Amino acid sequence: MRRDEIAAGLAEVDARIAAACRAVGRDRGEVTLIAVTKTRPAEDVRILSELGVRDVGENRDQEAAVKARELAGLPLTWHFVGQLQTNKVRSVVGYADVIHSVDRLRLLETIGKEAVRQGRSVGCLLQVALDDDPARGGARPADLLPLADEVALADGVWLGGVMAVAPLGEEPARAFEKLRELATRLQEQHPRATMISAGMSEDLAQAVAYGATHVRVGTALLGRRKPFVR
Ligand SMILES: *Cc1c(COP(=O)(O)O)cnc(C)c1O
Repeated sequence: MRRDEIAAGLAEVDARIAAACRAVGRDRGEVTLIAVTKTRPAEDVRILSELGVRDVGENRDQEAAVKARELAGLPLTWHFVGQLQTNKVRSVVGYADVIHSVDRLRLLETIGKEAVRQGRSVGCLLQVALDDDPARGGARPADLLPLADEVALADGVWLGGVMAVAPLGEEPARAFEKLRELATRLQEQHPRATMISAGMSEDLAQAVAYGATHVRVGTALLGRRKPFVR
């Protein structure tokens, strides 16, 4: 049964997070699991919710909007983790509690304006391109602090912290170490921006070792996704 599969995946991921915390002397309570449910049916999200998961992540507005609407009654925090075009912001702000992919001023301004219009307050994580190549999303490390100052000044948004995906071809631990340095610098200016969103199915232990507060896990929880054809 699907529920048993998901429960098994959840138990395994929980154990991995706990072990990663133990290995570096962190409290398990410091790390939040975000179940990345992209490409999965709403029913999987409902099961996760019944199993106690409170945070879910999606990366495509079209899909996420439908699921969030269908599951609106559940006690879930919705994280938008995908690259975001400004023309999707109106929709995303309608359901997302936290947006992990804020990487440019124009996007931030659009989110803020739309959040004010909808009477919402949206958490913003600044996505960093750790290889200094913004092609796959993310701000250059050098642009991070100025962007953070803008978030802190904008209405309708709150500055949560940073997010990154380990670049291809780089040791994840090295990448997450860099991210932690950037997060530390950010927190010197913005002490409440404590979130570090890092680590996925393959590299969550390394992310936890370098201070991740939120890991975004799909495959290890829910199985392999079918290749997505755009
Ligand atoms: C899909 C996705 C994840 C989850 O990846 P898995 O390898 O399936 O755990 C995490 N973060 C982002 C930004 C994603 O798009």
